[in-house]
Amino acid sequence: MRILLVEDEPTIAEFLKRHLEEKCFVVDHAADGEVGSFAARTNEYDLVLLDNLLPKKSGLDVIGEIRSRGRHVPILVISVRGDIEAKVELLNAGADDYLAKPFSFDELLARMGALLRRPNHVAKTVQQVGDLTLNEATYEVKRQKRDIALTRKEFALLRYLMRNESIVLSRAMLLEHVWDMDTDPFSNTVEAHIASLRKKVDAPFSRKLIQTVQGRGYKITG
Ligand code: CA
Repeated sequence: MRILLVEDEPTIAEFLKRHLEEKCFVVDHAADGEVGSFAARTNEYDLVLLDNLLPKKSGLDVIGEIRSRGRHVPILVISVRGDIEAKVELLNAGADDYLAKPFSFDELLARMGALLRRPNHVAKTVQQVGDLTLNEATYEVKRQKRDIALTRKEFALLRYLMRNESIVLSRAMLLEHVWDMDTDPFSNTVEAHIASLRKKVDAPFSRKLIQTVQGRGYKITG
């Protein structure tokens, strides 16, 4: 899951980026409204976390620009302005949810989870493909009751594959959703991580779940 974090306060931005990455999210950070708006309109994000009081452009303006381009990415506003009027204004402009600062990280995660499960993702925390299960809440991955230990990136890649069971995902799509914008698109990082996932998820078992579709990409099928 790739998140755009638009936040000008460096300490909050660093805190959120670090903790979200620990939860296997990929986070791009923009420090003002102009950069944030541009990033949201040009990249594919699964969610935008948007501070309302920003330099150059307000959160409200950013939402307007994203929605006027027909982008339906979920937007969660985080703001110190807790008054009802501001909240209603933001929701009317196209924000999906609103969280007043200060908030707990757990509450943020819960709100994000609710938005990410809407409408494309089935509302469940355990993904299952064949005899492989991945628990999005506890980060446990099991196959035939055997625990599989994955790195953060491997987990994020497997979660994205499993959420899109039987759908062929191109290398570009995987790069968009599982890696951040600093990744060199010409590196072999996708291939390398697919290979390491296969080693852990498929190699010890006779039935192979992760498939290469020649010239198109990868998919996971039970
Ligand atoms: Ca701010």
